[in-house]
Amino acid sequence: MQHFFTNRFDGVSEAPFESLNFGLHVNDEALHVNQNRAILKAKLGVSKLVFMDQVHGDSIVRIESGDEMPTCDAMISNVPDIALAVMVADCIPILYYDEVHQAIGVAHAGRVGTLLQVGQKCARAMVENFGTRMQELRIWMGPSIRSCCYEVGFEATQGLESFLHVKNGNYFLDLQDANLKAFLDMGIKREHITISEICTCCDHAYFSYRRDKITGRFAGVIVL
Ligand SMILES: [Zn+2]
Repeated sequence: MQHFFTNRFDGVSEAPFESLNFGLHVNDEALHVNQNRAILKAKLGVSKLVFMDQVHGDSIVRIESGDEMPTCDAMISNVPDIALAVMVADCIPILYYDEVHQAIGVAHAGRVGTLLQVGQKCARAMVENFGTRMQELRIWMGPSIRSCCYEVGFEATQGLESFLHVKNGNYFLDLQDANLKAFLDMGIKREHITISEICTCCDHAYFSYRRDKITGRFAGVIVL
């Protein structure tokens, strides 16, 4: 199994997408995006690399051939040599690994996805499809916007009141904590959950929609 999160460097896209942008939906040159995806595939050394058409929903697709082009926000698989990728620029890229049943998953969890429980649903899909047991599941949450920068309007705090920091009368959400608590409540072990300390809005090595609006997407990837 290999897994990692990319940053914005060493790709071929030009400003404002410089340079390792994987998003085809952000008005970058498709030729450059496809070249960037080929760079990632070569780095992984895999025969297939699957991206999702992400829609801030809670659909989960099981990948079996590697030729799927799913519209969803989470994927699961137990097929070796097919890498799964989740694209983000502030949302949380979540990776899953069940070593016992040799199964993997990825999920895209922003505020809406967190409210829809896409992270938990992906873990449950691994249970249903592969027999994954919560106490054996490992989870990585990659670089994403953190509560230092994630200021939202009052209406966006609904349903996430427990994960709110109020500073000078302004609301800041802690989506990492919301997802962590949800995973712990499901029986996933704390020592099996890794949360990146990087805030994409603070750290210019990563794309941030909040900071730049017109920007690229980096990726979390995992493969058996
Ligand atoms: Zn920040």
